[in-house]
Amino acid sequence: MNQAFSAGCATGPTIRERGQHEVFCGLTSIIWLHRKVQDAFFLIVGSRTCAHLMQSAAGVMIFSEPRFATAIMEERDLAGMADMHDELDGVVDKLLARRPDIKMLVLVGSCPSEVIKFDLSKAAERLNRVHAPKHRVLCYSGSGIETTFTQGEDNFLTALVNEAPASGPQNETKLIVAGCLPDVVEDQFTRLFDDLGIEGVQFLPGRSSAAMPSIGPGTRFILAQPYLGAAAAALQSRGAERINSIFPLGEQGTTAWFKAIADTFGVPEDRFEAATAAPRKRAKAALQSFLPWLEGRRMFFFPDSQLEPSLARFLHSETGAEIIEVGSPYLHREHAAGELGLLPPGTAVSEGQDVDLQIDRARKADPDLIVCGMGLANPFEAEGRLTKWSIEFAFTPIQGYEQAGDLAELFVRPLRRQSVLKSGLGFEEGAPCS
Ligand code: SF4
Repeated sequence: MNQAFSAGCATGPTIRERGQHEVFCGLTSIIWLHRKVQDAFFLIVGSRTCAHLMQSAAGVMIFSEPRFATAIMEERDLAGMADMHDELDGVVDKLLARRPDIKMLVLVGSCPSEVIKFDLSKAAERLNRVHAPKHRVLCYSGSGIETTFTQGEDNFLTALVNEAPASGPQNETKLIVAGCLPDVVEDQFTRLFDDLGIEGVQFLPGRSSAAMPSIGPGTRFILAQPYLGAAAAALQSRGAERINSIFPLGEQGTTAWFKAIADTFGVPEDRFEAATAAPRKRAKAALQSFLPWLEGRRMFFFPDSQLEPSLARFLHSETGAEIIEVGSPYLHREHAAGELGLLPPGTAVSEGQDVDLQIDRARKADPDLIVCGMGLANPFEAEGRLTKWSIEFAFTPIQGYEQAGDLAELFVRPLRRQSVLKSGLGFEEGAPCS
């Protein structure tokens, strides 16, 4: 597999777009991060706009105690007429008095807090002095200024890495799996690590804020998500070494990912085969029923989640779809090299955004399915084109063997819906809209 990493379009020319990014901001990642770290609370220091975004994206939790909120900056704060630090201290005091179960309080910066240069790390330091160790306080930026929604997770993980303990003989983490994974995927991966005999594995982030890996020169890490450039750099700056692989999407991606880990830890070939044979077979079988829908279909990816090169590789290698263009808001050439290397030479790869030019290219190519942000999907649908919201791939468990079929199905749904409508049978009961 590694040899193929240098082939394909990994070294081909990239269309570089330098227009405005038209994607959700980093606050959006709080939606999956707060579900993962179950004793954390995410407090956005932002405006009413930020609060509205979070409420509409995550839904309003009327009957449950939410684990995120916005400390809304009013006009007085923005005009410098109030001491923002005092105001924030008051909000945090009230919150922690009401919610003593919070173990980790995460202050999340926004565009407004960045514009007025509110020093969030100073605030976190001060609040830590008051509230730690009962409530740990840390911070990161989820601002939409030049960031995409998955970069919110990257910034959060970087903050976690920066405060993780150094490894020593008593607390040695052998392998860090970096990237927020749904619990169901984490459980499946943990069972596979057990079957492979690999010990000392920590997931970052973990389900509990106390589950912090130790990091040092003996630590290896592997990325479970492709958008973690800053977190990977932070891990490397602490001495940890990255295991290079494509990402665990689909049967082939998951096998390559586990094989790279197994080889690093000297797992014998027969043990690897024994541990992975059954789930590989299940993943292949699950994919089979979706292949007639996807083989030969022409796909166009707009830049949105940074998952695009991995999704395109999965579609091309495992379902026989044709990839017209793969757009990504940012391309970490080193981390994406394996995925791009498995795409056929000549596949158009674009980095950044210039939405008018990309719309023109998509219209000209007239693909069978356009994977894009929610803002572009409806206008394309109105033109009679089929779309898939790329943010769904960030919210849905898609990694690993057992999810290979679910991943394929996400692409198939709009194609199947169109077929049902064309056949005159009416709406498919229970089928989602996109
Ligand atoms: S962080 Fe910026 S882009 Fe995101 S909701 Fe707030 S103001 Fe809008």
